[in-house]
Amino acid sequence: MAGLTDASGSARSDDGGPRPLPAVRDDLVALTGYHSPQVDVSVRLNTNESPFPPPEGWLREFQAELADVDFNRYPDRQAGRLRSALAEAHQVAPSQVFCANGSNEVLQCLLLAYGGPGRSAALFEPTYTMHGQIARTTGTAVAAGRRTDDFRLDLGEVSRVLGEAKPVLTFLCSPNNPTGMAEPPATVDAVLALAPGLVVVDEAYGQFARSTALDLVRSGAASTDRVVVVRTFSKTWSMAGVRLGYLVASPEVVAACELVALPYHLDAVKQLAGRLALRFGDQMERRISVLTEERGRIASALAGLPVETWPSEANFLLFRPVARDAGAVWSGLVARSVLVRDCSTWPGLTGCLRVTVGLPGENDRFLEALSEVLR
Ligand code: PMP
Repeated sequence: MAGLTDASGSARSDDGGPRPLPAVRDDLVALTGYHSPQVDVSVRLNTNESPFPPPEGWLREFQAELADVDFNRYPDRQAGRLRSALAEAHQVAPSQVFCANGSNEVLQCLLLAYGGPGRSAALFEPTYTMHGQIARTTGTAVAAGRRTDDFRLDLGEVSRVLGEAKPVLTFLCSPNNPTGMAEPPATVDAVLALAPGLVVVDEAYGQFARSTALDLVRSGAASTDRVVVVRTFSKTWSMAGVRLGYLVASPEVVAACELVALPYHLDAVKQLAGRLALRFGDQMERRISVLTEERGRIASALAGLPVETWPSEANFLLFRPVARDAGAVWSGLVARSVLVRDCSTWPGLTGCLRVTVGLPGENDRFLEALSEVLR
């Protein structure tokens, strides 16, 4: 018998008791979600967003063009105008661009298309936690290598991990979250030469860095068709609330992602928001300059405090209070209404905290609070 229902229509098990919920997949049981606690504070420097709202000009154009959206119709499944605008911005063909709901969903599409049971993805810890997390949710094995003590990639270790695992995907994160350092082009080249499959360079913070793997994709040189660059509107474009990310890669990779994306996954409003944002590139560049300058100011101030820090090419800085419990420092900052990210329990990051570069006044508040807590 397929099952029983009681008078209210609820399912009952064959012995008459309520039927238990099915167990989740065995391979998901060990996973915990990736969340930054959102505490009610006045200075939030924990999730690496832009501290600036989108430009006013963008809001005006967006509101005006919203009136033209055919809300009763499904959106353009190809996101043609958005992809063309992105392609133009990056000097590639529209067939080389795939968009999704945040770069996390881009990563998920890559893993759905190329990962799965019997396949593996390589990464080098400490790095962005979601690379491993999304891999595991798609049934992809994770081959995790280690960075050096100062968080750099060691090509010997890369060679060992890739040689053993033969991963279909190798993740780099440049600049690396949460350590802040970018991979020099020569390192990306070397990893590409070692990797048997795709090399996915997550450039969520790429606009803050001095180099980009987009140059490799644009070069069209042999073997660069295995490079995938992932970017987001969540950081420099001031649109974390819109949830829009994309990749730039060879048309074959784009076609593979389209195989696994749900029909009409990118809504019309998001397509419009992203397309119009690209008209405001100058303002975005100016914001990057402000944040880069502020990053330098925070780094100099940290150098005068009892903390260890690392050079950053992103909009955040990793630091480790010397001879102080990181959890207590985090709580001391929260008590002063400043929220940073506590990374101290993450693999390879014992005692570390990460601060996002905010507005100048917010950065002052952070530095004052940190000095007090460390005094
Ligand atoms: N990649 C990296 C390295 C990130 O830090 C983040 C945001 N935490 C993402 C991808 C995901 O960004 P989004 O989904 O908002 O585009």
